[in-house]
Amino acid sequence: MQNKFKVADKVYLSIDFEDCSHDFKRNLGLNKNNKIKEKALWRSYGVINNFLESKLDGAKITFFCTGILATKCPELIKKISDDGHEIACHYYFHDSVRDESLEEFEKNIVLAINELEKCSNNKVMGFRAPNFSIRASDDNHFKIISKYFKYDSSLNINDESEINRLKQSINSNELKLIPVVAEKPYLGLPYMKSGGSYLKLFNVHFSLQVISKNLLKKQISQVYLHPYEFVSDMSFYTNWKEMNGLSFFKKIYWLLRQSQWHIVGNKSVLRKLDKIFSKYQHGGQIKDI
Ligand SMILES: [Zn+2]
Repeated sequence: MQNKFKVADKVYLSIDFEDCSHDFKRNLGLNKNNKIKEKALWRSYGVINNFLESKLDGAKITFFCTGILATKCPELIKKISDDGHEIACHYYFHDSVRDESLEEFEKNIVLAINELEKCSNNKVMGFRAPNFSIRASDDNHFKIISKYFKYDSSLNINDESEINRLKQSINSNELKLIPVVAEKPYLGLPYMKSGGSYLKLFNVHFSLQVISKNLLKKQISQVYLHPYEFVSDMSFYTNWKEMNGLSFFKKIYWLLRQSQWHIVGNKSVLRKLDKIFSKYQHGGQIKDI
């Protein structure tokens, strides 16, 4: 059985649409008054959509949204869908799926789909696990994914035989596996993906090398980004007061650590995307692959 990759010099831009501040506080157990930063999400979506309109001929792309955003800010998810973009699933909360039982995993998938489809003009067809937290050896997770989705974009592997093994194991010809394939951009460097912090923190040539290697191997090339990477106004920053409950030193640590996410390199993201898409055609929505 072959997993068919299309050959084209296209790059698929997608957004993992989540509120990093909400997810951050949830991971630290700061659940009291953990409100979604809806204004920041609207602002970031505006920046993303404006880039698509002005630089990519109004391209329609895929937004992998957490279900909690559909519950808490339905108008925003509806707006993204009404603008013609694909709403796909990024789980209900931005939790690592491997930390949960298979029953919880399926329950959260169903909850996320239900919430997202209330706001979306399209049937939710695609899934990407938060933090790419599924491995190709997680056959049972993929059996559940194949029940609800047409495609999955959670893997980072470049091993086609492993993908074919997985497809045989889950006995599904229907589920397309569309990984975000990591590559070593230059000899001696570790594997990198084209997107997220890799794109934000490093010279754009690293991402261009990854893309070029993906395409040479006839793999689908994807650039993924997050809302907080498009703004540099600190609007997703979790402030000192919001971290009440943590020790003084932990607060200091997390204040500094957040700078990496919210400040360093954020202003370069649009310029880097512009560079990538001056070289490659944008691919559109992942459901159409
Ligand atoms: Zn995510």
